[in-house]
Amino acid sequence: MTAAPAPIDVGLRIDVDTLRGTRLGVPGLLRVLEKHGVAGTFYFSVGPDNMGRHLWRLLKPGFLWKMLRSNAASLYGLDILLRGTFWPGPIIADKAGDAIIAAAQHGHEIGFHAWDHHRWQTRVEQMSPEDMERSISRGCDALSGLLGQPIRTTAVAGWRATESTIEVKQALGFDYNSDCRGDSIFIPVVSGAEMAPQVPVTLPTYDEIIGIDGVDDSVFNERILDGIKPDALNVYTIHAEVEGIARVELFDRLLSLAAARGIRFRPLCELLQGVDIASLPRDRIQPRQMPGREGWVSWQGAA
Ligand SMILES: [Zn+2]
Repeated sequence: MTAAPAPIDVGLRIDVDTLRGTRLGVPGLLRVLEKHGVAGTFYFSVGPDNMGRHLWRLLKPGFLWKMLRSNAASLYGLDILLRGTFWPGPIIADKAGDAIIAAAQHGHEIGFHAWDHHRWQTRVEQMSPEDMERSISRGCDALSGLLGQPIRTTAVAGWRATESTIEVKQALGFDYNSDCRGDSIFIPVVSGAEMAPQVPVTLPTYDEIIGIDGVDDSVFNERILDGIKPDALNVYTIHAEVEGIARVELFDRLLSLAAARGIRFRPLCELLQGVDIASLPRDRIQPRQMPGREGWVSWQGAA
């Protein structure tokens, strides 16, 4: 008689970028996650929803191709694509605080994603450390004000962190952050100083692989599950705007298929439990291009 294979733990990160994702996507995800008894880490955007400014990026051919490939209007909703283009973006924490509180009440870990997601993603390289500090503090204050508890973890918008971002976050004292792509939990080293642990994302997101190399919804879940490696760090990111709304049934099926394979999704903080910090690799955070994503994203790299 052979023993059942050991369960594989996978960190589940849920990014919430927009007002629509918070209002509609978060309740949808809470229902599906509860149905499967799964908890994850929600990273919330809380300030002005200016994601509609993405519309201007249609002028760039790479972005236009991605929008067509992923059928962005049906995936994200036209209101998201237009938001902030013709009128000022609404403050998400003011308009949809109930959904954020509900996520915490359902037992999920809550972290900070962005004050102004669009501004961070497009302008982080031009932001001064003081500007970054204001943006992160303002957002964390709004989030902790809603929840009545301090925020212990953050994840930059668009996987765009510079070394300066990591130093700013260190001064704000978070337990750990998830700011980059990579393959193991590590200690980032910036200017010779060791920073709080990073839990990198290891798997691709829906919009990064859909429509490429024959990947459509009929094979998407298998593609993700096949990328999960036993005896390695596995972290998967979903978006409230996608897996909570237009692809909620696809995500529901992913959770069923994962359970059948012995895969357990967990909040990121649980991946750090029992980890010996001294034994973690010391690495750098470096900008890199990646398939399916426009411009650079932060990667774990050798120090
Ligand atoms: Zn995001």
